Amino acid sequence: MPYSRLLAVAVLLALAACTAGEPGPSPSPSPPAEPTPSESPPPSPSVEPSPLPTDIAAEPPGSLSAPGVLRVAPAGTTLASQPGGSSAGRIRGGVLLPFSRVENGWARVTTPCELTRWMPVDSGSRLVRPAVILDPGHGGDEVGAVGPTGLQEKEVNLDVATRAAAILNSKGVPAMLTRTSDYRASLQFRVEVADASAAELMVSVHHNADPDGPLDRPGTETYYQYRSAGSKRLAGLVYEEVAAELAKLGVAWVGDTDAGAKWRLNSSGGDYYGILRRSAEAGVTTTLAELAFVSNPVEEEILRREEVRQMQAAALVRAIQRYLGSQDPGSGFTTPYPRTAPAGPGGGTQGCVDPA
Ligand SMILES: [Zn+2]
Repeated sequence: MPYSRLLAVAVLLALAACTAGEPGPSPSPSPPAEPTPSESPPPSPSVEPSPLPTDIAAEPPGSLSAPGVLRVAPAGTTLASQPGGSSAGRIRGGVLLPFSRVENGWARVTTPCELTRWMPVDSGSRLVRPAVILDPGHGGDEVGAVGPTGLQEKEVNLDVATRAAAILNSKGVPAMLTRTSDYRASLQFRVEVADASAAELMVSVHHNADPDGPLDRPGTETYYQYRSAGSKRLAGLVYEEVAAELAKLGVAWVGDTDAGAKWRLNSSGGDYYGILRRSAEAGVTTTLAELAFVSNPVEEEILRREEVRQMQAAALVRAIQRYLGSQDPGSGFTTPYPRTAPAGPGGGTQGCVDPA
């Protein structure tokens, strides 16, 4: 497809563009996560009847200490407005919910739409503290960027993040997701998952739209928290690994002229992207990674392939392992040109429906 046509498509897609900027007012910061010394070796698997092979281990509910993250049992569960109260809605099995308090066998949880509810602790299992959080961007009616033949960013993000978590868990690096299937999840909820689990880092996985034009290399870009040296190093390592891996595919890439590891600030001098700003406030080292351009026909085509998604996941894993196990600085750091176009909408709670 000629580039002029592609550009038209990209412009049409701009409203659905990828990263939820959500530059609105910031909420009050979450309380700092405390270490939970009771979490040591993974317990008997009998507490979780059918864990996914990709899943992080769980520990018995008896050892619950707040804060933490509960995985809802496969059958789902009802939630209440107060401990022991009547039903105030259902939540889908497999969803991860951060909790801040436990009272008489009930945990005070936050739902993906940021409702405060109480959940019976025996309707789920507490996840052993992960080192790594993978955050699949978008979900539910927030589909993210869309390729020319309809491939939705939210689906690719979830698959790549799930694969990366599976590889990390198989290597003994406990990892979990902020979103485990196709549903809305606010940015603040995602940050609460990371914060409550006291993870060492979070990688928010996205695919992009609206490139500046053709590029002689993958248009991978990673954004870091402007005031965090750790986030900058993480972004540089993710950029380095993902761009090098994708380059093996040799397709007609597109990208921004300043593709690389970079930052974007809002008018108040804070990180522009909500997931970076809010996680910085919570003290979670995070990078937002736009792995490739789903709006580019040839990139959409390769992103439909399982092996390419697995390549992306493996590259993310290498970057994360290098971050955790070395002082490698990463590469691809670039000075971004000034941006005024707003990022795509989304990430808030307006119209949000929790997964039932
Ligand atoms: Zn996105």
